[in-house]
Amino acid sequence: MKTILTGIRPTGHLHLGHYFGAVGNWAKLQNDYETYIEIADVQALTDNFESPDKVIKSVKDLTVDLLSIGIDPNKANIFIQSLIPEIAELTIFYSNLVTISRLERNPTVKTEIKQKKELFGENGESITYGFLGYPVSQAADITAFKGNLIPVGDDQLPLLEQCREIVRKFNNIYGKTLLEPEAYLSKFPRIKGTDGNEKMGKSLGNAIFLADSDEEVKRKVMSMVTDPNKIKINDPANPDICMVYYYHKLIGNNNLTTVCEECKNGKRGCVACKKELLSKMLEFLKPVHEKQKYYNEHPEEVDEILKKGTKIAQEKAKETIKEVKRAMKINYFE
Ligand code: SF4
Repeated sequence: MKTILTGIRPTGHLHLGHYFGAVGNWAKLQNDYETYIEIADVQALTDNFESPDKVIKSVKDLTVDLLSIGIDPNKANIFIQSLIPEIAELTIFYSNLVTISRLERNPTVKTEIKQKKELFGENGESITYGFLGYPVSQAADITAFKGNLIPVGDDQLPLLEQCREIVRKFNNIYGKTLLEPEAYLSKFPRIKGTDGNEKMGKSLGNAIFLADSDEEVKRKVMSMVTDPNKIKINDPANPDICMVYYYHKLIGNNNLTTVCEECKNGKRGCVACKKELLSKMLEFLKPVHEKQKYYNEHPEEVDEILKKGTKIAQEKAKETIKEVKRAMKINYFE
């Protein structure tokens, strides 16, 4: 059975962008693969090192969200990154196999540095050693659990390629030890925000969270961006530039053809259209909210799930680090 390694930074609740872009698919993959889901708290600290409380709280929230969308702890191991010290050891070994200029050239890292500069200004927040090195830490995550299939969006392919380069270099120097991972490309790598932005994101203020109350979902749906040329209720409009139609599609509304035809022919008002979407959206979120409520009321169960998943992950990572040290001939006194 192939092994899937996937991870997510604990920086808040999951939103629909996470669900449709990646996480929802993990619930299917866990049936066919040995699955490890890393709560990447160490990586989250690269951006939040001054506020670890935020990260710690998010570990539990994120785990509750994962369980609520159908991740089955009997099929998938959910674990906490910082409790696997072998990842940190591997990161140190791998850091000798990557040049600084190669990290700076990594397109994903370059984009993130650009975003940081836009946010903090050229002379604002400077890039830390930890941030620049996170692709190396990701290579350690992947190889520690012998992950050979990695679910990614196309924007993350450069990170995976960086990992493959590290693996090849390690194997060339020390002998074939590590597995070269392959990408499992997500069908919907990026989900648009409610405002029409190409990406849904917490900091962009355009996300619908899985933990949003019905009232919050209502407010967000009713303020979604529609075709600006539709002024009157009977004006024909273009659903392809309307976020309400986009979410009707995403949610899988089986009335989609009617929505599209009525919109184009001016037979549908935007308020009614949004109300229909809201009803479908709440229907979709209902079982998620029920499970969230259950797990929030049973935090001891969430802790047990995390402990169990972390123990299994620790055992796997211990095996890997032994093999790596043996290959590097630093297995003193073994
Ligand atoms: Fe969008 Fe619906 Fe209005 Fe058409 S009728 S513009 S699909 S909200």
